[in-house]
Amino acid sequence: MRSNLLHNCVRHFTSEKITPQICVIGAGPAGFYATQHLIKTLKDARVDILDRLPVPFGLVRFGVAPDHPEVKNVIHTFHKTAQNPNVNFFGNIDVGKDVTIKQLRDAYHVIILAYGAEQDRELHIPGENLNNVISGRRFVGWYNGLPVDKDLNIDLDVDEAVICGQGNVAMDIARILLTPIDKLKNTDITAHALEQLSHSKVRKVWLIGRRGPLQAAFTIKELRELIKLENCSTQWRSADFYGVRDHLPKLARPRKRLTELMLKSLDETPATKSNCKNVLAPIFFRGPVEFQGTNAVENLKLCINELSGDNTTGLIARSTNSFEDIKCGLALRCIGYKSVQVDPDILFDSKNGRVLAQHGKVAENFYATGWVAIGPVGVILSTMTNAFEVANRICTELKVEERKPGWTEVSSVLTRNKVQIVTYEDWEKIDQVEQQRGKIVGKPREKIVDVTEMLHIASKESKSVLTNSSANMKIKFKNEAITIAIIELFQRRIWLWLTLKKKF
Ligand code: NAP
Repeated sequence: MRSNLLHNCVRHFTSEKITPQICVIGAGPAGFYATQHLIKTLKDARVDILDRLPVPFGLVRFGVAPDHPEVKNVIHTFHKTAQNPNVNFFGNIDVGKDVTIKQLRDAYHVIILAYGAEQDRELHIPGENLNNVISGRRFVGWYNGLPVDKDLNIDLDVDEAVICGQGNVAMDIARILLTPIDKLKNTDITAHALEQLSHSKVRKVWLIGRRGPLQAAFTIKELRELIKLENCSTQWRSADFYGVRDHLPKLARPRKRLTELMLKSLDETPATKSNCKNVLAPIFFRGPVEFQGTNAVENLKLCINELSGDNTTGLIARSTNSFEDIKCGLALRCIGYKSVQVDPDILFDSKNGRVLAQHGKVAENFYATGWVAIGPVGVILSTMTNAFEVANRICTELKVEERKPGWTEVSSVLTRNKVQIVTYEDWEKIDQVEQQRGKIVGKPREKIVDVTEMLHIASKESKSVLTNSSANMKIKFKNEAITIAIIELFQRRIWLWLTLKKKF
């Protein structure tokens, strides 16, 4: 009896001292929301969030369009989570390369995969490798400052662009291509994208859907923004809407409102916006068959589709033997994303591009949340709901019976592998520099797009970061000002010389 009591006391005492060590892989919305729920429920847990990039926030930074700043406000919530003393952000760590899943599972009580979907689906049709057939995902990365996409080779010196797919990524890209440049200047769009877009010749954007208006994947807010774009008219094809009105009474509310907006725009457009410079041309019932051209894309061959099935919104597209050609100098493929298997110890469904998980559980003490688990669908709110559910499951199932080294072990692995670790404080230095540079050019921030530069800033003493950065910017602007003055002087001299020459 006495020894039992003693044993229980010792057990109680020791188990109370064990800190649950949790590792989240991916510092995007899924990772941050899961962490938020974990630290709220497990007061004594320590959560380490690892990311491949030196900067946090994943798709909120690299996916959300620059002209949607309100969506990025979730960063304030993530920042609060990162400030919690039990939470750590460690950037610049490539899981699967710098540290393996096995090493992480050995070091932590729980692992959560939350690294999203970083590849795009391909059409697998001829001509997909022609120049200027561009992945929509990479185009988004290009204008949003994803380091790997900073040098994307894209030619905007063309009149017409086609976008394959009608999801919200397609809508974002269409909007960026058709928005007057002055409206983008004060956003956090990257400097290189702004520069190239300011010379863009693209005047018409075709938005191609393989099914009909009743199955369109875009949402009402995104459509409304496009329809309302300054100097841009929306040219629907009335034949695509044959019989659509008859379905209105049976549609669920969001779909009904979206369809009503399309029908309203179809009725209004020719009268209201006939003299616009730019054109958005959504077309339905067309499937991409072949990109054609010599070096770069010149034409997209589309096959005319029919729909089959019973459920209006779930109808399937079937190709007929009729075709249509669309002339285009740029083609963007926006047919969805997929995840990658970053380590062989992750059970993976390669066909669907996601981790094999049952309601967020991959294996014992091993979970997945967000796009890597459920596939690339839904807005940030749906990612949040999923992250909370998975975190809740972890809290219910968590059993901490033995001590685990957590970060102490992982950091020594990373030191051995000579990895520069970027902490949240380091990110704040990068953040400060970006905001400072943004201020100079009237933007919320000028994103740094080079990993080496990010690491350089991260490694500096906090105090010297801003002074050096603004000094560099000042030197840059001073040099530019001197160059402009010399050019002006030169021009004036030529003008004077010509005037004198004419006179005498
Ligand atoms: P998505 O919404 O799934 O749209 C994919 C589009 O590609 C659909 O039109 C789909 O047509 C089409 N498609 C798929 N396979 C095709 C094929 N083989 N041939 C031709 N067309 C094909 O994907 P997404 O645009 O990548 O967006 C991913 C998620 O992020 C979505 O939930 C989206 O709402 C969200 N997101 C939101 C925002 C925002 O809130 N502003 C911005 C970006 C993304 P079917 O419908 O026929 O399959």
